Amino acid sequence: MHILVTNDDGVQAPGLLALAQAMRQIGDVTIVAPERNWSGGGHVKTIDRPLRVRPVKLVDGTSALSSDGAPSDCVALALLGLVEQPVNLVVSGINTMANLGHDVTYSGTVTAAMEAIIWGVPAIAFSLDGSRRDPNEMDFTAASRIARLIVRLFSQRKLPKGILLNVNVPYLPIDEIKGIRNTRQGLRLYRDRLDKRQDPRGHDYYWIGGDFPTGKDEKGTDIGALARDYVSVTPLQLDLTAYPALASLGKWDWPPDSTAQANLPTEPEQLAVTA
Ligand code: MN
Repeated sequence: MHILVTNDDGVQAPGLLALAQAMRQIGDVTIVAPERNWSGGGHVKTIDRPLRVRPVKLVDGTSALSSDGAPSDCVALALLGLVEQPVNLVVSGINTMANLGHDVTYSGTVTAAMEAIIWGVPAIAFSLDGSRRDPNEMDFTAASRIARLIVRLFSQRKLPKGILLNVNVPYLPIDEIKGIRNTRQGLRLYRDRLDKRQDPRGHDYYWIGGDFPTGKDEKGTDIGALARDYVSVTPLQLDLTAYPALASLGKWDWPPDSTAQANLPTEPEQLAVTA
């Protein structure tokens, strides 16, 4: 099995090294990761500038490629031809903070895995619930072992096409982790606040700051699993269609097809819909 390893904390992050070392026990490993930290960078396709790729060495001497693109760019680069040997699985992480609920579209870790799905390659994102611990002080032993276990299972069981796994591991020693749970996305509660300041020239600028997000602790969710000291495994898909809403949208009185062109309003405000 040829495994592509990437992350969003940057190619020199300890979590990437831990994941690469774990994957090397299972198959051939190629590393393509961003040269800087892209946490919160979301699903990016860089089209307004060229992407540069450089060979780098990790602290254990492992050869890797780094790019000035986002994590999702790194995956696209690798799968579109930068890496010659066909890739069987993309793994992303190990991120130093959990990616739960609505975090998944912000997360560079998870969106790197989403990019792999677009190119038809299965993918698994791994995050450790390290809260705000210093990444350089963090212990990735338990998360590495969980990653190895899950990828070994993946190699036997496979995944349905178009599905990625979002794995979150509690920050605990392996013997204190209670088990593994299949979960759905829970509800993240964001506590962002806009911080307005002034630069030395008197112009306003803004930081989106505030406190670390919490989450609604519900059984069956990713947040609930972590709160109970379980590893959370959430299957995700890129089809975000709200299928139940198709029924209620079906009750809207769109003009009949043949007359739609003639009936389209010319003034934008006429498009406003009163529910
Ligand atoms: Mn990150």
